[in-house]
Amino acid sequence: MTQTVGKDEIEKQRSFVYKIKQLNSNYSARTGAKHLALTETYGCQQNENDTERIRGILSECGYGFTDDPYKADVIVYNTCAVRENAEQKVFGRLGILKHIKESRPNMTICLCGCMVQQEHITEKIKSKYRHVDVVFGTHALWRFPELLYQSLSGKKEVVDIEDCDGYIAEGMPVMRSSADKAWVSIMYGCNNFCSYCIVPYVRGRERSRKSENILNEIKDLAAHGVTEITLLGQNVNSYGRDLDENIDFSDLLKMVNDIDGIKRIHFVTSHPKDFGDKLIETMASCDKVCHQLHLPFQAGSDRVLADMNRRYTKAEYLDKTARLKKRIPDIALSTDVIVGFPTETNEDFKETLDVLRKVEFDNIFSFIYSRREGTPAAKLDFALSEDEIHQNFNELLEVQNEISLKKNKAYEGKTVEILVDGPSKTDKNMMSGRMENTKIVNFPGSEELTGKYIKVKITEAHTWSLNGELAHGEENV
Ligand code: SF4
Repeated sequence: MTQTVGKDEIEKQRSFVYKIKQLNSNYSARTGAKHLALTETYGCQQNENDTERIRGILSECGYGFTDDPYKADVIVYNTCAVRENAEQKVFGRLGILKHIKESRPNMTICLCGCMVQQEHITEKIKSKYRHVDVVFGTHALWRFPELLYQSLSGKKEVVDIEDCDGYIAEGMPVMRSSADKAWVSIMYGCNNFCSYCIVPYVRGRERSRKSENILNEIKDLAAHGVTEITLLGQNVNSYGRDLDENIDFSDLLKMVNDIDGIKRIHFVTSHPKDFGDKLIETMASCDKVCHQLHLPFQAGSDRVLADMNRRYTKAEYLDKTARLKKRIPDIALSTDVIVGFPTETNEDFKETLDVLRKVEFDNIFSFIYSRREGTPAAKLDFALSEDEIHQNFNELLEVQNEISLKKNKAYEGKTVEILVDGPSKTDKNMMSGRMENTKIVNFPGSEELTGKYIKVKITEAHTWSLNGELAHGEENV
């Protein structure tokens, strides 16, 4: 049963926001300066979206923002537990912060997110990283104002990692990172328990937001100039199963498609076992739903898929993607692939390459298997050596790079519409934007184009991006 945080609880948190704001106003009145906060996010878009809420709370508390840990009065690391290297990075950062805090003892260090929802990690932080002031898990995000206030009031070691199935909290402040695009969480948690994945243990059971709350949020975003939204959930195809409303994800998509002002709708993530014809039809018939889909297949071997508890076969995956391509021929597909799952042999890996070649994804997110304590797969022995796994990983990239380049080459000479993001991250002399299928297009242009939909003629294709020039004689909107 989904637990919704009551209005009185949200009001209580607002009262802590007010108290912190008073503290910050007093400081500003005394010094003429503002207390500053720094946030850093690890992991997925869900975490990015959670950080926007944390920044919303901090902003309402009166904090300004900085990227410099030497200037920050409050630091919040929103952590990820999906792979070991993200955890190691956080521990590395905490080591550096220990030295900074020695010279700035009033600094408040907060650690939140999936990593700290694991008991063994929290114990490690409590014993070895005692300079961390506030630790709160994924289920306690909405209580951040109260936890921060406790710490600012002198309470030592504020820890809130309640082990529960999770909550839905509506009405907390959000500070969006973009004026044109927004992530909108439609559900939280996961019930799938893939054998390698820690997410169901740290984010709790699936719980859907009421459609009314989602639609109101998107209408409000559209009223404030947002034109592109991404609906977020660990498995969006399960949306609505836990609600009293008679609604599924396709129904929700149609309702979002009807909202004035929204031009592009994306969604992540779809689980292949739940992806079906109704959603394909909805994608094809809704004019704002982008022709792009992220559908993680993870491995090509049926035996490995069974060991992963994915509950689909290679043939079923190929069949669903073939049906999708037939109905939406210009669909751009992306996927996640895990190389080196413990029971994967070289023969199994060939099945993975076979899926790449048959589906021809536009791009893939590939990872070497990372052992996660507490998951069933963590107990398995490895069939392959580390060297073999790395060789396979490199081969996977080679095969995919060739496919990605081939797919991008097909755009050369074509005129496409992009939403301009701003200056390019790879070439400061260029601007950058994305096509509706999320392909990156770099082009020479002025910063004033940021946030606009423009037409660009593709001049050159690369593996991961396209180059273009402003299209002349085309209507640029
Ligand atoms: S569907 Fe599987 S991989 Fe995705 S979050 Fe749930 S358990 Fe993890």
